[in-house]
Amino acid sequence: MISPLFRWILNTFTRSDENQDKIMLNLVLFGPPGSGKGTQAKKLTEKYDLIHISTGDLFRYEMSNNTPLGEKAKAYMAKGELVPDEVTIGMLENKVNKHLDANGFIFDGFPRNTVQAEALDKFLTSKGTQVSGLVSLDVDDEEIIKRILERGKTSGRSDDNDESIIRNRIEVYNQETAPVFEFYKKQDKAQLVHGIGSIDEIFNRLCEAIDSNLVV
Ligand code: AMP
Repeated sequence: MISPLFRWILNTFTRSDENQDKIMLNLVLFGPPGSGKGTQAKKLTEKYDLIHISTGDLFRYEMSNNTPLGEKAKAYMAKGELVPDEVTIGMLENKVNKHLDANGFIFDGFPRNTVQAEALDKFLTSKGTQVSGLVSLDVDDEEIIKRILERGKTSGRSDDNDESIIRNRIEVYNQETAPVFEFYKKQDKAQLVHGIGSIDEIFNRLCEAIDSNLVV
């Protein structure tokens, strides 16, 4: 089997479009709601000098500004359901297009199903780059519910305060989102990282996974 590092180097130097000279590190930070993706994404963004794109944050921003996009997302988010792909993928691509000069991206909360994963691969290929790897935070359901309810005390998010909505978000994750791990596993790009411990312990595990497999 071809190693991820070798594949990354190979792909990086064999690109054939106008972005040929651009080397990007594009990470998918993966895991169930409440697994700590947002916290870790901020730290990883700083360390690797990347652009953090959280589709959840983008939707909340649109909602707080009462935009048409925010209006479309509102009802789905309130129930813990996925916002339709055509809305989500378009929003994500617009955001990436604004930062094409970046060193790379951390995708947090995207892709959330295999249709989105396929769209992301196609889109990044069209930009002469690709997903470098996916790191998934492994946290069990009960710990997640505990963490989200705790976060709900201060986050101001209605979807963080109601246990039945939280359970639905976990169900949606297991049914629709978890297959994205297999999608990237088939490309030899997915890694699982133990997601329980202190913020710094988990951060170090993530960096180790990234450094040992992806970054030259
Ligand atoms: P998050 O902040 O990632 O937990 O996302 C909060 C909510 O935003 C989710 O429960 C979905 O309703 C919506 N959302 C965020 N990202 C996506 C996505 N990639 N696809 C569809 N819906 C999303």
